[in-house]
Amino acid sequence: MIAFKHVSKIYPNGIHGLHNINLHIGEGEFVVIVGLSGAGKSTFLQSINRLHEISEGEIFINNKSITKAKGNELYRIRRDIGMIFQNFNLVHRSTVMRNVLSGRVGYHSTLRMILGLFPKKDKQLAMEALRRVNIPEKASMRADQLSGGQQQRVSIARALAQEPKLILADEPVASLDPMMTGQVMDDLLRINQELNMTMVVNLHDIEIARKYANRIIGLKAGKVVFDGKADEATDEA
Ligand code: ADP
Ligand code: ADP
Repeated sequence: MIAFKHVSKIYPNGIHGLHNINLHIGEGEFVVIVGLSGAGKSTFLQSINRLHEISEGEIFINNKSITKAKGNELYRIRRDIGMIFQNFNLVHRSTVMRNVLSGRVGYHSTLRMILGLFPKKDKQLAMEALRRVNIPEKASMRADQLSGGQQQRVSIARALAQEPKLILADEPVASLDPMMTGQVMDDLLRINQELNMTMVVNLHDIEIARKYANRIIGLKAGKVVFDGKADEATDEA
């Protein structure tokens, strides 16, 4: 599903965000990337859907090079990748339903979004996504009326409505309390298992990583210092 071949990312200030990364992530894996602040977790995740350009090497998504893809080809690869962020990135004053529908292709730029005219099929898809994260009853509420945990569930539903093959989550529980953290991680795990959805999740908390991941990749100064089963990961990873 994802392959890194000799990938390095050197920032303009000379810092190695990533240093010669070689690895493969298979379909259906639940991979957690761990490491201290500055270890390269965000750089790693942002490289996968090319939110920035890598300096060396090549990244493949389903055997297609996202590094070399241009225009429509890049757009098609990205369409298969759902994103979840630490701060949810919802449109606060919009309804939950509209936020989820914005995950559907082509909505951002169309009049439909403004007028609220959504095809039935898309609404059904959005409701199904909201059911998967256990908040179908919140569909018509404004996003900013929800708790942090619920907002993160909306952003997971938005990613699902996109019908991706792969979900990337950058510190999805870093702004949540322990109870909401559990709920959001449970949702991600359930989606991984029920839909065989590949998940790559950045976490700075090794305990949560051990609890949920099949596989943990430990980063330190842009290098892989651990790659293995979750229960074999030491605190060093
Ligand atoms: P996190 O540790 O949660 O990944 P950071 O505080 O390291 O977040 O970074 C926040 C933002 O600042 C990111 O967009 C990152 O790209 C940018 N950033 C981090 N370090 C530097 C730096 N040394 N110079 C410029 N930008 C940086
Ligand atoms: P993490 O997500 O693990 O906290 P990052 O990927 O944000 O780590 O950062 C990895 C390294 O790259 C850090 O040393 C950070 O300061 C540096 N870095 C991140 N973003 C930038 C940037 N935009 N410009 C310069 N350096 C950056």
